[in-house]
Amino acid sequence: MLVNKAYKFRMYPTFSQKALISKTFGCSRLIFNKMLDKKLKDPSLTRFDMNKLILSLKEEFPFLSEVDSCSLRCSIFNLEDGFKRYYKKLGGIPRFKKKGINSSYRTNNITNTYKDKTYNSISVDLKRKEITLPKLKEVKIRGYRNLNKLPGRIINATVSKEGNKYYVSVVVSEEINKETEKTRGIVGIDLGVKNLVTTSDYEYHGNPKHLTKYERRIKKVQKKLNRQVKGSNNYKKTVNKLDEIYRKLKNARKKTAEEIVKKVIENNDVIVTESLNIKEMTKKENNKKNLRKEILNSTFGKIIRILEYKCKWEEKTIIKVSPYYSSSQICSHCNNKDKEMKDIRKRKYKCRECGSVLERDINASINILNEGIRLLIERKMITE
Ligand SMILES: [Zn+2]
Repeated sequence: MLVNKAYKFRMYPTFSQKALISKTFGCSRLIFNKMLDKKLKDPSLTRFDMNKLILSLKEEFPFLSEVDSCSLRCSIFNLEDGFKRYYKKLGGIPRFKKKGINSSYRTNNITNTYKDKTYNSISVDLKRKEITLPKLKEVKIRGYRNLNKLPGRIINATVSKEGNKYYVSVVVSEEINKETEKTRGIVGIDLGVKNLVTTSDYEYHGNPKHLTKYERRIKKVQKKLNRQVKGSNNYKKTVNKLDEIYRKLKNARKKTAEEIVKKVIENNDVIVTESLNIKEMTKKENNKKNLRKEILNSTFGKIIRILEYKCKWEEKTIIKVSPYYSSSQICSHCNNKDKEMKDIRKRKYKCRECGSVLERDINASINILNEGIRLLIERKMITE
């Protein structure tokens, strides 16, 4: 099976390469914003129309020709992707991009054959610790300790600047034929605020406090920022500090989610989870007052995304139950429904019908498991 994997390298561009990178960020942003403006006025505009429009924009803004032209087309692709997600109600309407401390651009690997020789627009030499990118040419990178060569065909590369550091993330199409032994295990998982994940096997994974501690730090620095004079040196310093905290939070979130998923799929072939109501979540994410909720929601989103691709790689099955399935209100013993359990402060499920008492999240995870089994039978994915 072919899967796409990303390898992220720290990059050490020279002064002139840095200048070109920042120019490319600017040009990609300019294209994105110009096309977004056109698309908002004329929604029938397609990616192909927009690619054609680049030519006339190059006449208006000659500096667009100085940067990697593929990055400009990727910018249009991203815009179109944003609109597709919006039409499918998976996200908000694309917004204009502002210049920020963190920026990125993507470029695709283009393969050409000339006189029986193959040329790639992107290549990585891990022995020389170099990446070759369009327009930038060779840029120094830090290698991976156990990797001499990228194990597959390069699809694309994303150049990013995070604070003062430069990175390049290279997506490679890899063949994996891992003979995974089937465990035949099936598990239901509940996403919660006390433990990030509770399983129907009575296991708890992930302490939310490792992530919500950033809430206090962010608020403290944000408060300081609000008192400072906008544009002053101290203000800029605080902006950088705030950025650093967000970056740490992002890394911690990724690490936590990866650890949880690893444990959950270790002994199971089928994983049943709630599907998150993304529309509801993005609404909350826009609400700055609810920072804690935002931190937890984005962690749940990350867990599901990692779960999805890990299941794909390892040929396991992921089943998502409807977000309207009331896993916390049903008694997992007798199926009695108790609306009072909507109240998240009730930590124990005490059934008024059969008298059984179970920890709230365990009860929910067993219900999710049961609903998953029901869906499997409905889709005839299991026969016994
Ligand atoms: Zn009951």
